[in-house]
Amino acid sequence: MTASDNPCQSCGACCSYSSNWPRFTTEDDAALDLIPAKFVNDRLSGMRCDGDRCTALTGKVGTFTACGIYDVRPEVCRTCMPGDPECLMARRRFNLGELPPGSIAESQ
Ligand code: SF4
Ligand code: SF4
Repeated sequence: MTASDNPCQSCGACCSYSSNWPRFTTEDDAALDLIPAKFVNDRLSGMRCDGDRCTALTGKVGTFTACGIYDVRPEVCRTCMPGDPECLMARRRFNLGELPPGSIAESQ
């Protein structure tokens, strides 16, 4: 898959679905320390969100988006894959429709 085929780059729905989604799970302290403090919530339990949207997300949902901490993003963000149930649920919230054929693979 090339970068331009990655549906996540024109989506961002799962990063804007719920403040409960980008939570920390299996990360160790060393991994969490790599996430800039300004993006971590007050309870240190997950990413800081503005409403439902993760504050590390840049761009406009459904048009062009990027994760501002991609290389150090939480595990839950790494496991969300285009086409999985959470992805499709989030995309429906933003009326983004089905994923184009061939785009369901490793992304995010
Ligand atoms: S995993 Fe799905 S909902 Fe999340 S950014 Fe990618 S295409 Fe959008
Ligand atoms: S850390 Fe990155 S991938 Fe995870 S919810 Fe925030 S913007 Fe999305």
